[in-house]
Amino acid sequence: MKIIFATGNENKLREIREIMGDLAEEVISMKEAGVYVDADETGSTFAENAQIKAQACADLVRQKFPGQDIIVMADDSGLVIDALGGEPGIYSARYLGHDTPYPEKNRRILERLADIPEEKRTARFVCAVAAVVMRGGNASPETLVTQETMEGRIAYEIAGENGFGYDPIFYLPQYGKTSAEISPEEKNAISHRGKALRAMREKLC
Ligand code: IMP
Repeated sequence: MKIIFATGNENKLREIREIMGDLAEEVISMKEAGVYVDADETGSTFAENAQIKAQACADLVRQKFPGQDIIVMADDSGLVIDALGGEPGIYSARYLGHDTPYPEKNRRILERLADIPEEKRTARFVCAVAAVVMRGGNASPETLVTQETMEGRIAYEIAGENGFGYDPIFYLPQYGKTSAEISPEEKNAISHRGKALRAMREKLC
């Protein structure tokens, strides 16, 4: 069965391929499938937004590949900072504007947390994965959802070149490093996305 992943984010896609690489199913991007959708994330939770993205893509996929067995997956993820009341949360990609470079978004978060002591700098990455399972072009396909987190703290300084987005300010006490300083394999083993995708694999089996 083919899996089409509904994201245009190349960094996410790289991680998804690393995590799902050993699956028998082929994982292809929307671009490779020749479909394009940029659904408005109007949900109020990560899970709702993941379902909105997967459903919008599945609607197009059903028209383009009628009757085929295809799983359409999407994720919605973000950084939840306790000292900021959960910000940026589901608005992580849109925080300070979609096009603001991440070094600037990260600097701004560090500024906002300047007076916050270590024990109150707790934060987590959250990832919800939704999968619309279309068998034989069934009209009302089943939708599965998983959600996982990676717990950590907001660092005092930007550090590391790996990963993407907010990784350079996400400190993992067990490594004494940010998630941009550990290797991709180490991150995938403990990350919100790695855990949510592996949980989805279990559900699909
Ligand atoms: P969306 O799921 O496409 O709405 O965007 C999620 C946003 O959350 C990304 O653009 C990043 O800013 C952030 N994010 C999600 N996962 C990660 C991660 O693993 N590392 C760093 N930033 C992340």
